[in-house]
Amino acid sequence: MARTFSSARRRWLAAALGLTAAGGVAALGTRPWLMNPCHATLPDELARHDIVRSAWAGLDPAQVWDCHAHLAGIGDGGSGIAISPEMLSPLHPLQYLQRLFYLNAGCAHEAPGRVDQSYVERLHNLMDGMAPGFKLMLFAFDRAHDAAGRALPGQSAFFVPDAYAREVARATPQRFEWVCSVHPYRADAVAALEAAAADGARAVKWLPPAMGIDPTAPACDRFYDALVRLDLPLITHAGEEQAVSGAGHADLGNPLRLRRALERGVRVVMAHCASIGEDVDLDRGADGPRVPSFQLFARMMDDARHAGLLFADISAITQRNRDLAVLRAIIEREDWHPRLLFGTDYPLPGILPLISPAQFAAEGMLDAQAVPVLEAIREHNPILFDLVLKRHLHSRGKRFAPAVFETRRFFTRTPT
Ligand SMILES: [Zn+2]
Repeated sequence: MARTFSSARRRWLAAALGLTAAGGVAALGTRPWLMNPCHATLPDELARHDIVRSAWAGLDPAQVWDCHAHLAGIGDGGSGIAISPEMLSPLHPLQYLQRLFYLNAGCAHEAPGRVDQSYVERLHNLMDGMAPGFKLMLFAFDRAHDAAGRALPGQSAFFVPDAYAREVARATPQRFEWVCSVHPYRADAVAALEAAAADGARAVKWLPPAMGIDPTAPACDRFYDALVRLDLPLITHAGEEQAVSGAGHADLGNPLRLRRALERGVRVVMAHCASIGEDVDLDRGADGPRVPSFQLFARMMDDARHAGLLFADISAITQRNRDLAVLRAIIEREDWHPRLLFGTDYPLPGILPLISPAQFAAEGMLDAQAVPVLEAIREHNPILFDLVLKRHLHSRGKRFAPAVFETRRFFTRTPT
């Protein structure tokens, strides 16, 4: 984050790159183990591999929606996407490097002048490798706003307009759904939400620390009431944010801050199960101790008052910057599974150093013969990689229930 960009992340990124940030940009192209080679078509022997077949077995692909996928680009294709000058400038090497990484993960890095278009073409290419019926829920991403509801373009790392997400989804409804992103402090927030719902948005996405949203602010109440009325779930970041810089304070991602939305009846999906970072235990006062965000998430999941409303997605939980004990807990807590939703956080699974199948095998959470297959799949298809990995992960005899992957019912609420 421009301001809250954590030093831990800085160190981690530098360590993962094995080079200094300033020198790293030029070196990227010569390090194939870091850059996803973005092979287009999944070879037959991979597509038909037992490990892939068994991942789909027992699932109805038409019910499997990836509920956490990012639309990205740089705004060169009339998309209206805007990214901060820092992300574009080699003078800010970490942000620049991040952008290169994300675009490479989405395989749009070698397309000067048509990055937006290439990103979407790559999505189609990936969907060719998925079972028919499977869909991606593509996220718009609103700007940071101040307390008076004024947009802060200079402090918005990234902006993806609702209209763009809507159009990409509309062009190929058999493959894509879309998720709007509306800052609740905007004067037109409720109207924007109503318009998005009328245009088929399946949920709303917030990233409170980057967007400068305090979910406990009374200014959010009318927004929460509109969400309940429209029956739209709120997918919101909880725990430490590492991927996007922005305007707000890290504590805005404190899971406990989402109680206000839950108490008003909103269906809340906490992204990543709050699997990383620390937050103040506000239940013990504003100056309570800092505890793992996941501990606060677990407390809320186990709170009977939130049972019908609080859900979580399993995107990003396999990244190696997470505590493995957290991943094990999420897999082993079978009583949570009916409330967990499959998501990839695409393009992040395409970033090679972020997820290590070999480490899971070493921990006894994955069969060793799956490792080379998964690594090969990732070079072709990070979305399939994420699905296959999560279908095969196990911890002390437990694995994710098939229903975790069949997320469609949650977003359509139609009994199918
Ligand atoms: Zn995400």
